[in-house]
Amino acid sequence: MPQNNQPGFSYSYLSLPNTFYSLEKPANFPTPDIMLWNRTLAEEKQFSNEQQKLLTDLLMGVQSYENLSSFAQAYAGHQFGHFTKLGDGRAIMLGEYQNNGQIFDIQLKGSGRTLYSRNGDGKATLKAMLREYLMSEAMHGLNITSSRSLAVIKTGEPVYRESAQEGAALVRMIKSHIRVGTFEYAAHITGSIDDLKAITNYSIKRLYPEVEQEENPVAGLLKKVMQEQIDLVANWMRVGFIHGVMNTDNVALSAETFDYGPCAFMNAYHPGTVYSSIDRDGRYAFGNQAPIIKWNMARFAETLLPILHPEQETSLRLAQAMFNEFDTQWNTAYYGVMLKKIGFDNNRPELYALVDELLNIMQNRGLDYTNTFRALSEEERPLDDEPLKPWKEKWYKAVAEAKGMEHARKIMKAHNPVYIPRNHLVEQALDDAVNGDMDLFERLSNVLSTPYTEQEGQENFTKPPQTDFDSSYQTYCGT
Ligand code: AMP
Ligand code: MG
Repeated sequence: MPQNNQPGFSYSYLSLPNTFYSLEKPANFPTPDIMLWNRTLAEEKQFSNEQQKLLTDLLMGVQSYENLSSFAQAYAGHQFGHFTKLGDGRAIMLGEYQNNGQIFDIQLKGSGRTLYSRNGDGKATLKAMLREYLMSEAMHGLNITSSRSLAVIKTGEPVYRESAQEGAALVRMIKSHIRVGTFEYAAHITGSIDDLKAITNYSIKRLYPEVEQEENPVAGLLKKVMQEQIDLVANWMRVGFIHGVMNTDNVALSAETFDYGPCAFMNAYHPGTVYSSIDRDGRYAFGNQAPIIKWNMARFAETLLPILHPEQETSLRLAQAMFNEFDTQWNTAYYGVMLKKIGFDNNRPELYALVDELLNIMQNRGLDYTNTFRALSEEERPLDDEPLKPWKEKWYKAVAEAKGMEHARKIMKAHNPVYIPRNHLVEQALDDAVNGDMDLFERLSNVLSTPYTEQEGQENFTKPPQTDFDSSYQTYCGT
């Protein structure tokens, strides 16, 4: 296995059959400039000063990438339901980094063309990379597992989209970039059982070593990934997050939120909310995220059929049995987090109707998702919406019969954020940042780092946009 001691990186991924990657070097940028460096993350991951220096020297072009065994990953995926061969077309893995026994990928996104770039330029715009930085760090602040953003580097060259824009690259960290699409690549593109076994064993060892002890580790992996994805998406529902492009190539086996293209946060509650410009049928609408993750997990299960059991019929039966549990698992996870939003920490099915009823009223009244739940959480901010009154009476009664309002409010305040990245503020912050003014970007990042705590003088960050902003807001897979 190639090893390399530049900033302490290793390359366990290169132990896989070489069909899974292509050795690649990042492009040389004309005038690289580190615009953002996430010191908190660097400290959290315990990078030494020497390691940080080496990494920033590489990014600044002071050191060459020559000694790194950097590579791009091959994968495939179902994009909006259609199967395609893909791969890192604009990202290169600089290496793996170990901290506290956990391996993290360190990837440079916007790093130039690779074997998998097809017609793309391999580059990224500054606005898109700043957006990923802001949104991924906000998700982390909201206690939702996510890829992290370590740095944004201005490249000093224009990137041509509809118009010329400033180019940039992002350094991101994630437990692993292995996706459902990586398994689809092995199962449907190379079609080799050995490849499938290799990626399965590798994923188990790296991400879910606990299933190795099980009688059927492949079944264990499927079960584990399903549960982790259910928990992740239930938490997206908790904060009103719309991923926007839940293609199977954007579903990480580690169940970390990643690929922040067209994602956005919902303002007024409506399950049909979609912002992505390319999602015309609402496939990835807010309220569709549960059926979609189920669909994506079915694609994952299909890839494992050849190795789930030596007899195909038994394989199918095993997978089917696991899928029969999906809806129950989803309800438990979803209502589990939603009940916390109204103050219950024990998951009792008799309370589920209380959640549904509240959401119905919110939908009919066009109430702001975040602010409604937060107002319910706070005595100081009573919610005087007339049609909510009968619901509130029922809720008070249920809370009193449970552990009381004081206890309920404590739970609610920990699960209902005060601040989310409001679309209109995100756009303003990004536009300002691209024009050289980082003030709003920094202030927004700052409130979003502790979003469950009300911060003095920051009410502006809690306000939803004008209705006409939201109804015409569009996000892009913007590269
Ligand atoms: P995404 O929408 O970011 O999940 O990307 C889907 C696929 O398109 C991935 O295989 C990317 O690597 C590839 N891709 C996206 N943008 C570019 C680009 N500018 N150049 C090359 N490949 C790209
Ligand atoms: Mg992607």
